[in-house]
Amino acid sequence: MSAPAVLVTGGSRGIGRAITEHLVSRGVPVCFTWVRDGDAAAALLDHLRTQWPGVPVEGLQFDVGDPAAVERGTDEAIERMGAIQGLVNNAGIVRNQAAVLMDDAMWADVIRTNLSGPFYVTRALLMHFVSRRQGAIVNIGSVAAGGCSGGVAYAAAKAGLEGFSNTIAREYGPRGIRCNTVRVGYVETDLTAAHLASTLREYWATYAPLRRVATAAEVASTVGFLLSDAASFINGEVLSASGGLTWVP
Ligand code: NDP
Repeated sequence: MSAPAVLVTGGSRGIGRAITEHLVSRGVPVCFTWVRDGDAAAALLDHLRTQWPGVPVEGLQFDVGDPAAVERGTDEAIERMGAIQGLVNNAGIVRNQAAVLMDDAMWADVIRTNLSGPFYVTRALLMHFVSRRQGAIVNIGSVAAGGCSGGVAYAAAKAGLEGFSNTIAREYGPRGIRCNTVRVGYVETDLTAAHLASTLREYWATYAPLRRVATAAEVASTVGFLLSDAASFINGEVLSASGGLTWVP
């Protein structure tokens, strides 16, 4: 029988893909999710199954912002993987616009995916974790939680995610479940290429004490640590993986 698995939302591309690969390469079974890009998901599945044939890995399509789809998807994940002991709430989107021009649909899209999504997926898995008296949850946050010009919905969602994360840590810590947030800085992914100005990347490379942006693999190893027994007494924390830069314009 294989070890309990980790569910990684939005694990088919970008930071989520790096997290999936980090875990599978260390022998941890993973069920990753995606929503639109089936080709990227299929390519990743193929790569992982070829590279690490002994490690169970599954890809599931569901929208984290749709609570009914989340209930069905998490049930399916448990059925396919046997047992799940880790969750990474990674799936997220960016819609940038000045606050006065941000319409209701943009605001709702970001809150739905980046804040309601982690709540729906966590809620759906909590009883599974409680019944096993074991579980580790890592939420992918952002330095934008402190505010970021042009990203009013994104910043609000990421700030809310930290409050959500700290609350889960308090409510379910007594049941053996840990919940933490990784506050990410700037990582080059499809998301940053499509939605963030190149000046933000330069800002990062100029002002971060480490004088560069992060790789997705660096975020993945931080997440891997928080999921692991090496972090067994870390709960309700916000850990920055941002090269020492904590403020964005
Ligand atoms: P990408 O756009 O590269 O990847 C996003 C992933 O999330 C994809 O797998 C995508 O699936 C999935 N996804 C998007 N919407 C949904 C949804 N509604 N339901 C299920 N899955 C969904 O993003 P990044 O890797 O850059 O970002 C990952 C996380 O890191 C996000 O939460 C983001 O806010 C956070 N972050 C990123 C930073 C960066 O610099 N890149 C900085 C700070 C935080 P599909 O391929 O099917 O579209």
